[in-house]
Amino acid sequence: MLAMLVMLVFAYNLSSTFLNGKFVEEHMPMPYAVTLIPGDGTGPEITTATRRVLEATGVLFEWDVRQAGAEMLEKHGTVLPDDVIESIKQTKVGLKGPITTPVGRGQRSANVTLRKKLDLYANLRPAKTYPGLRSRYENIDLVIVRENTEDLYAGIEFQRETPEHEEVLKIIARTTGQTLDPNSALSLKYISALASRRIVKFAFDYARANGRRKVTIVHKANIMRLSDGLFLATAHEVAKEYPDIHHEDRIVDNMCMQLVQKPELYDVLVLPNLYGDIISDLSAGLIGGLGVAPGANIGSHEAVFEPVHGSAPKYAGQNKVNPMAMMFSGVMLLRHLGEREAAHRLERALTQVIAEGRYVTYDLKPRPDDPTAVGTSQVADAVIERLLRK
Ligand code: NAD
Repeated sequence: MLAMLVMLVFAYNLSSTFLNGKFVEEHMPMPYAVTLIPGDGTGPEITTATRRVLEATGVLFEWDVRQAGAEMLEKHGTVLPDDVIESIKQTKVGLKGPITTPVGRGQRSANVTLRKKLDLYANLRPAKTYPGLRSRYENIDLVIVRENTEDLYAGIEFQRETPEHEEVLKIIARTTGQTLDPNSALSLKYISALASRRIVKFAFDYARANGRRKVTIVHKANIMRLSDGLFLATAHEVAKEYPDIHHEDRIVDNMCMQLVQKPELYDVLVLPNLYGDIISDLSAGLIGGLGVAPGANIGSHEAVFEPVHGSAPKYAGQNKVNPMAMMFSGVMLLRHLGEREAAHRLERALTQVIAEGRYVTYDLKPRPDDPTAVGTSQVADAVIERLLRK
C-alpha cells in the first residue's frame, strides 16, 4: 500500500489552481528529466528543431541543457566537460546533437568518450525506408546493433618515437618474431568475450522483443582469427540460447556487397564497433541518406539518443541541414520512456512530411540545389503542423 502511494506521488505532481473562488487540485503529469546536449556545428540547429517537435507531442520534458563540443575545448580544455556525464547519470536519458572530432590532433572523440564513460555498450541504428524517400530501394527495414566500447575504437594507441611504442615493439618482436618499423603507429584491436556476449545478447533480446526473425553476426574471423574469432564463437554460443530466432554469420566485406545487392534478406545485424560504424553509414545510404538515420546508445543504466550523422560543420548556422535523423532519434527516445503513443504520432507526422515531399531539406529533394528545399526550422514547423492536425 505504502509502495503504491509512493509510486502515485512519484508519477503525479499535485498542483493547485484558483478557480471560482476555490482551490481546485489538478493532476499534472511529471515532466521527464532529459539531458539535452546541442553539440556543435549544425548540432544546435537540429537540436532546437527536435526539441520543438518533442514538446509538440504533449509529453512534458524538463531539459537539462549541457554544453559539449568545439567551444568547450577552447573554454575548458575538453570537448566533454564532466558535468555532461554527471547530468546523464542523474537523468538516465540524453538527447544529443553531433560533436566534431578534430582529425589527428590527439584529442579523443567526445562521442567515443561519452559512450565509454557511461558504458553505453549498445549502439542501435535502425535503417528503414519510408514512402517518399529518394532511395534505390523500397521496403528496407534493417536494425544495426553495433558494439560500442571496444575494438579499434577502444583508444589503445601507441604514438611513434615514444618509450611506450618502443616497449610494445620489443614485446611484439620477442613474442611473435616480427620486427615492426619504429617509424609506425599502433592501434590495438581489443575484443573481449564479456562485451561480445552482452552485445550479442542485446541483439537477440531486441529481435525477440520486436518480433524480428533473424540475427546476422558480422565479422572478419577468417583473417582476424583471434579477435573476430572470439566475437564469432561467443555469438554462436549466445545464439543457442535463442532457438526461436534464426541466426547466421557473414564476413564483413561480403556483407557490404550483400546489403547493396539484396538488403531485403537481412533483418538485425550485430557487429563489432568499427564494422558497425561503417555498415550503419552504408545502411543510411540505402534508405535515403544520413539526414534520416537515427540512433541510440544504450547501457545498463543510461541511454543517449543521437543521429548517425556528424556535425556537418560546413553547413553550421545556415538553417540548411535535415533535422529528421535527430527527430527519429527522438521517436526512439519516446519509446524508451514508454511514451509509445506519442512516439507513434511523431513518427507518423515525420513520414507524412516525407511523403508529401514539400517541406523537406535539400538532401530529400531530387537535386541538392532544388530551390524549393526548405530549412531546418521549416521542417520542424511542418512536423508540428501535422502533429497538431485533428
Ligand atoms: P557528417 O555526417 O557530419 O557529414 C557528411 C555529409 O553528409 C555532410 O557534408 C552533408 O553533406 C551530409 N549530411 C550530414 N548530416 C546531414 C543532415 N542532417 N542533413 C543533410 N545532410 C547531412 O560527416 P563528417 O563530415 O565526416 O563529420 C563531421 C564531423 O562530425 C567530424 O568531426 C566527425 O568526427 C564528427 N562526427 C560526429 C558524430 C557524433 O557526434 N556522433 C558522428 C559522426 C561524425
